[in-house]
Amino acid sequence: MTTPDAITHALSFDIEDWFHMVEIDAVSDTSKWPELPSIVVDRTKWIVDLVGEYDTRATFFILGWVAERYPEIARYIADQGHEVGTHSHWHRKVYELTPEEFAKDIAHSIDILSNQIAGPVHGFRAPSFSITPGTEWAFDVLLDSGITYDASLFPAPRGHGGYDCPQEAHVITTPSKRSLPELPMSIGSFGPVRLPFSGGGYMRALPKALINRSFNQFERRGVPAVIYLHPRDFDRNCPRVNMPLKRKFKCYVGLATTEGKLRHLLGNRLFATCADVLDSQGVPPLHRIANPVTPNSSLHVPDDQSKRVATA
Ligand SMILES: [Zn+2]
Repeated sequence: MTTPDAITHALSFDIEDWFHMVEIDAVSDTSKWPELPSIVVDRTKWIVDLVGEYDTRATFFILGWVAERYPEIARYIADQGHEVGTHSHWHRKVYELTPEEFAKDIAHSIDILSNQIAGPVHGFRAPSFSITPGTEWAFDVLLDSGITYDASLFPAPRGHGGYDCPQEAHVITTPSKRSLPELPMSIGSFGPVRLPFSGGGYMRALPKALINRSFNQFERRGVPAVIYLHPRDFDRNCPRVNMPLKRKFKCYVGLATTEGKLRHLLGNRLFATCADVLDSQGVPPLHRIANPVTPNSSLHVPDDQSKRVATA
């Protein structure tokens, strides 16, 4: 049940296969990827169909490697009216790349995806939310690549990332003093503990009641939450990989619960694409601004948004 002034949250999926988990030795050899059994086509179409049941649109950040190998995926997603963004090409962590390597990787993925959907790619999410302090150059690379918003920042400490930034949608000032809209991940408050709740292993591990409580907290503050899930998050038959016990728990806990939790959220709250949610928060993606910024100029930020401006 929703009310007329209910908050619209962001629904997003990172489209990669089960073997694209980072820092797992057993699947780190990219030359072996084509030989591994794949779940990504069937499970992504299943996700698109599930979302369609709720008359909701979502953003799918697709890995370029996946799109190149399975060209039907991006078209299937776009044909249903969803937004296609890029999740990079090789799923390498941004903080391990040089600006030149990152630019090449992003350009490769955008080239493949924009050809497949016959249109521009506007949004980016970094593999493992890996834009960290010191890698702000990535925001300039994204702007130079034609990206008009970012959804990569994770405002809490984590294994492969973490960036201290506002929880709300806000505008980043890049090292070259340009502006880039940002939709960060959602971090909940459980007493004194701050914990993600709206995606990946966190959503799989947490009970439905705690997830609901966190969504309610965000709605009371007038802040949209961001759901981020992967095809493997729904697949209880997902091939298992050898890894340390703690990581194994995080990778495979609650696989059978994800569908029910997502259906409950979709049936009881409002969701939209990342671009639409940024728009609703007064931080529109650059391509939706009437007078787009020119290179090396700053986006005009209205007074009521100035509190959201974060300096990277
Ligand atoms: Zn990923």
